[in-house]
Amino acid sequence: MAQHPLAQYLEAVPDFPKPGIVFSDISPLLKSHFTETIDAMSALFTEAEWAEIDCLAGIESRGFIFAAALAYKYNKGFIKVRKPGKLPNVAASIEYGLEYGSDKLEMQKGDGSKIVLLDDLIATGGSMGAAASLCEQVGYDVVGMACLIDLASLNSFTYNDMTVRSVIQFSD
Ligand code: IMP
Repeated sequence: MAQHPLAQYLEAVPDFPKPGIVFSDISPLLKSHFTETIDAMSALFTEAEWAEIDCLAGIESRGFIFAAALAYKYNKGFIKVRKPGKLPNVAASIEYGLEYGSDKLEMQKGDGSKIVLLDDLIATGGSMGAAASLCEQVGYDVVGMACLIDLASLNSFTYNDMTVRSVIQFSD
């Protein structure tokens, strides 16, 4: 399958943040094609689906970029899924395993809104899965998950039978 044209503006950075990791840097893409990137993420959901969505939730920190821009575009609410110690009135937190060590996410109380969860990139699905579970724990209804780049398309990560929609797919 042909790669999405926006993929050419990503920069593969070897040995970042650790030796052996090839980091996919979205900075050049956001700088030169921000509007096109947001429009490509918009197209992941139909107009009928957008009409049913109440809020966009972003996973700190790059998920905020996409969730905030899409919330503005579709006149929806914006919700933060934050790293520990940043939010007052935390209703629940979740700890999840990384390749080395673990990480934690926190959220305030939800209200039953139908939300789509956003991040820049999905690799193992650990962050997206933990965030989705936390969203439901605090009282949101996760109706979709999306990211700009999917490195896990071959691993077919799913949450509650939902797949993560993405603009750019890479598979090794
Ligand atoms: P996962 O939890 O293994 O799916 O990793 C996804 C998380 O790690 C996301 O929050 C990404 O922002 C971050 N991440 C992992 N690899 C990269 C990369 O190559 N570029 C940008 N972010 C990455």
